[in-house]
Order: sequence, then structure tokens, then C-alpha cells
Amino acid sequence: MSDKLAKLSNLSKNYPASGIRKMFDIAAKYTSEGGGADIINMTVGEPNFDTPEYIREAAKKAIDDGFTRYSPNAGMPVFRQAVAEKYQKYSTDYTMNNVIITVGALEGLTLAILTLMNPGDEMIVQDPCFPNYFGQTMINGVKAVPVPCYEENDFAIMAADIEKAITPKTKAILLNSPSNPLGSIIPESEIRKICDLAVKYDLFIFSDEPYDSIVYDGEEFFSPGQVDEVRDRVIVMNSLSKSYAMTGWRVGYLLADAAYIPKMAQIQEGMVSCVSSFSQVAGAAALRGPQEATQNMVKEYARRRDLLIDGLNAIPGITCKKSKGSFYAFANVKAFGKTSQEFAEEMIKYAHVIAVPGSAFGSMGEGYIRFVFANSDENIIEAVKRIDAFVREHYPDVK
Ligand code: PLP
Repeated sequence: MSDKLAKLSNLSKNYPASGIRKMFDIAAKYTSEGGGADIINMTVGEPNFDTPEYIREAAKKAIDDGFTRYSPNAGMPVFRQAVAEKYQKYSTDYTMNNVIITVGALEGLTLAILTLMNPGDEMIVQDPCFPNYFGQTMINGVKAVPVPCYEENDFAIMAADIEKAITPKTKAILLNSPSNPLGSIIPESEIRKICDLAVKYDLFIFSDEPYDSIVYDGEEFFSPGQVDEVRDRVIVMNSLSKSYAMTGWRVGYLLADAAYIPKMAQIQEGMVSCVSSFSQVAGAAALRGPQEATQNMVKEYARRRDLLIDGLNAIPGITCKKSKGSFYAFANVKAFGKTSQEFAEEMIKYAHVIAVPGSAFGSMGEGYIRFVFANSDENIIEAVKRIDAFVREHYPDVK
């Protein structure tokens, strides 16, 4: 290690590298060495739609109206109020005092960890899960404790498995439904059992819900925030990134017991001060405006999900459950006898399709590949065609 790198903090020396980024780097190397191969990228977890016009117009107007200065740390009342209104369907007790505006759901979780957990505390996470959770817990010396999500259970985490992982150090259970990378939804019955555990062992439930409105086939998304008995111990993180195609705006929010919000606002001051003011005005417009744009995007995702997953299931050796929510498909490739990293690299090399090996999301992801179907019809059709040709050529014996 060079002298300069030796000076890095322990956190930065140990901070986990992104498995998604690693695939980009491999694809970039292959593209440059392979003469600019036409790689189809199915790794990026964001909508391939523009932010709806009514939201863009609200932002432009907000800038012209002078919303270009700092806002209060907890966010602008207009936006906090709009968030509280959305959650009145969970409980009429929710008011803007339960809401802090954050830089995406990502900062919401970091704030929750910094405000409510101490170094040495344990937080239960789904395995496989969104890999940022490992770095986010590390920031405050919190240990992420993975609990397996099995394909037999439709990739939903089970309360009984959570209970086995609870120790005296456990302080929180982090849930993510609909899930990235699994596309699964935790059923209401299981959420209720997890809430019972939270009471029994005196735990927080952190519920990371950025895909709450991206659900298919009439599935019901159920949040622990809807369970009266645990409302004081549930922290909901959400954002407008996925539902409103606003990933680059960096607007999200967190709901919690009103006692915690001022403390979070204090920590927010030292981290980012506040979320950009005109983005907050636009965020309020997004939540209060017509929801057709979101509904139309979800319809498109549903069609593309079918295009991808039906296509993958027709390839010998690949099986893939229908995603119930989010825009991820988690395909089983165990039949090929390779690690998911090896199989993903072969897909780049031979099919020119880049997707993320399941192992990037935790040890239970081994043997799976995550595909994003927030992509064009043409790309999805072409990717399936190429993977099919690659598999039939390189694995003729796999049926
Ligand atoms: N949580 C999950 C499960 C995600 O998949 C993502 C983004 O991919 C985020 C949180 C962060 O989203 P944002 O910070 O843009 O709200």
C-alpha cells in the first residue's frame, strides 16, 4: 500500500466495494479490448423514463419563484405536509412532525442508523439485499446480520428465520419490500409476525420502501408502518427516485415517531444541511399531483417484466420467478455449475449482456443473476436472444 493510502481512515480502508461497479469495470475493459462491443446494460437500477412533465414544470417555477436558498434541516413544511398526507392512509396520526426530508431513501437509512444505533449494535438485513446496507451500517460501527431469503418462500424473509438471528445486541430489523434485488414482496401475515418480534425483543423496524408503488398483478404492498402496535418503533424510508423517475433529484423522506425527528434534523445539519429547496417544492407537487404518470410507468414495467422473465424461462437451464414488485428479476442459473460471477462474466464475453451476479447482494445470492427490466423492449428482446444463443452454444448439455 502506498504511503498515501496507508493514511486512509479505517472506514475507507474497509468500506465494501460495489459488485455492480465491478461489472461495469469488467464490461468497460471488455469493450475497449473487444473493439467496442455493443454491450446491453441491464445493471442500472433506475427508471428509463424522464421525470413527468408536471414535476419538471413545478421545479422550474420554484427556481423562478426564488426557492434557491437553504431550507430548514427537517425540510420545507409544504413537502413534509405532502408526505404526511400520503401516509394518512397508514395512520391518521401521522403529521408533518413525523417527517424529515432526506437526500433519497439512502440518506434516510444513514440518518436512522446514526440517530438510533450505537457501534456494536446489530441490525438484521435480508440476504440477498441492497449492497449499500453493508457500507451504511459500517459507517457507525453497526454489524449487519444477514438472514436468508429462500426461493421456496418466494424470496420473502420469514419471521421465524429472523427470530433465530436475534441476539442481545440486535437493535433493528431492516426490511425492504418490494425488494431490490429479489422483486419479492413480504406478505402482510409475515410483516405482522415480524412486528410481534419487534415488540417481544424491543427492536426498531427500519422499512426501506422506495418501490412501494411499483407492484404488479394486483399485489398488495403492506408496510409495518400500517401496524398500530409498533408505530413508535417503525422508521419508514422512502423516496421519489423510483416511483416518479427522479433518481437524480435526490429527494426522499423518512417517517418516524415525532420524538426522533428533531434529533435527525440536528445530524442532517452536519451531513448535508438540507435537501435542495426547489427539489422539495417539486417533490410536494409530485406527491399531490395526478398519479397517472406513475401508474403508466408501472404498466410499462409490468409488460417488460413479462418480456424478460418469459424470455429467460424459455432458455434451457434458467428459471426465474415473476417479480411481484420493483423492476428487478432474480434469475436462477445454478444449472450451469458456475459461480454467479463467472456466469455473469461469460454473459458479457459471449452474449454482450451485462447484469449483476447475485453474490454481489449477499451469500444467498450465489447461483443467481439480477436483471433490471427498466429498459427498452428492443434491449430486453435482444438481450434474451443473445443469452439464449450463448447458453445453447456453450452449455449444449444443460436442458
Ligand atoms: N433502497 C433500495 C432497496 C434501493 O434499491 C435504492 C436504490 O437503488 C435505494 C434505497 C436508494 O434510493 P434513493 O436514495 O435514490 O432513494
